[in-house]
Amino acid sequence: MIEKVLIANRGEIALRINRACKEMGIATVAIHSTADSESMHVRLADESVCVGPPPAAQSYLNIPAIISACEITGADAVHPGYGFLSENANFAEIVIAHKIIFIGPQPEHIRLMGDKIAAKRAVASLGIPTVPGSEGAVSSDSEAAAVAKELGYPVLIKATAGGGGRGMKVARSPSELPLAWSTARAEAKAAFGEDAVYLEKYLDKPRHIEIQIIADSRGKVLHLGERDCSLQRRHQKIWEEAPSPALNASSRTEIGATVTRGLSKLGYLGVGTVEFLYENGEFHFIEMNTRLQVEHPVTELITGLDLVREQIRIADGGALDLEQDDVVIAGHAIECRINAENPFTFLPSPGRITEFHAPGGLGVRMDSAAYSGYRMPPYYDSLVGKLIVHGKSRNECLMRLRRALDELVVGGIETTIPLFQELIKQPDILDGAYNIHWLEKFLAARKPE
Ligand code: ADP
Repeated sequence: MIEKVLIANRGEIALRINRACKEMGIATVAIHSTADSESMHVRLADESVCVGPPPAAQSYLNIPAIISACEITGADAVHPGYGFLSENANFAEIVIAHKIIFIGPQPEHIRLMGDKIAAKRAVASLGIPTVPGSEGAVSSDSEAAAVAKELGYPVLIKATAGGGGRGMKVARSPSELPLAWSTARAEAKAAFGEDAVYLEKYLDKPRHIEIQIIADSRGKVLHLGERDCSLQRRHQKIWEEAPSPALNASSRTEIGATVTRGLSKLGYLGVGTVEFLYENGEFHFIEMNTRLQVEHPVTELITGLDLVREQIRIADGGALDLEQDDVVIAGHAIECRINAENPFTFLPSPGRITEFHAPGGLGVRMDSAAYSGYRMPPYYDSLVGKLIVHGKSRNECLMRLRRALDELVVGGIETTIPLFQELIKQPDILDGAYNIHWLEKFLAARKPE
């Protein structure tokens, strides 16, 4: 039985995990850098351990310090959250080698899906459709030219180790290819320490639709429907909703069945998300995330399930106590990622939050570690919080989101709240008629303040 969980993360996700543990009667240990000693995740956990100075490499990514923290506090499980060490197979292996439960999938599956080429190959062999692209890494520009010609332009050059939209460049014609290829490699090298890249057909008007799955150690794999994360800036999601305005029940059932069949062949364990681009009625796999995602609350609101609770139960050897038919999608949910950024230039705006008021009422959830007087450190991501709303219909959800955005107060720093207030008035958003390029076009066309 898991009795004490060390939460190897910070901010809103550390709070989110802390909440699930508390409701399960499990004790919690927070870790923090010296920059985060006043943080809410530290205040709410039962115990806390400082694991290093502000830079993440020396604290939240400091594996020896985190393992020591487990040993000092007697934590018998580690939850990695998202980001940081959540998709680091070595970390999972080290945790397990210390006889501590890793709340996540098996290290081999984390490793497999972390290599995007290997992941594409593996899922293709499991019967999951993928984006047309190169067979493997493309190591010379002449090879890139040959592959691009075969795929047809435009093409996308992507980092094998990719994540967060980095190391990704489009080439629309043969003349654009050499620069795109070398820039993608340089970006990949800088971000991930390796410059391996591959090519994919660049899709012109797809939606980003991802399938949430959950699997237990008894071989049961369920899907919890999809999330539509097409509203992106620089390949980063800012608004996620479920169900997707583009899918109907039969397409959902079909893709859900394909994914669950594939992952049960793989023997996957825990929660995971299979990401697709969806265009002209067809799904094309792009990657799989072997962790809890930022946007998981959207799925929680439409299914009524607590994904973190399920993760902990599964890691503890528990069985899913529902069948696919018991997963009922009810109503509609939307999440907005509120960032500490200028809503026009998107320059980060860390600093002291002088005033903080979260919206409330029926169907409104605010996942945030902010409070009045909280100083957002400049060292980590700029997420102030996630505003998630639920309504019986998409329309009710949009109306509720509008009023919740009006209630939300974050003073003292700049945030992206005004961007969402603008988005919620756009006819295309109201109609659900947007693809992955919509937001960039909208931002390029709007006038600065
Ligand atoms: P990362 O791991 O960096 O997040 P992904 O492969 O998940 O990269 O892709 C992130 C986003 O980039 C997608 O949601 C989509 O908007 C865009 N993208 C990725 N592959 C393609 C493609 N083949 N064509 C068009 N856009 C793509």
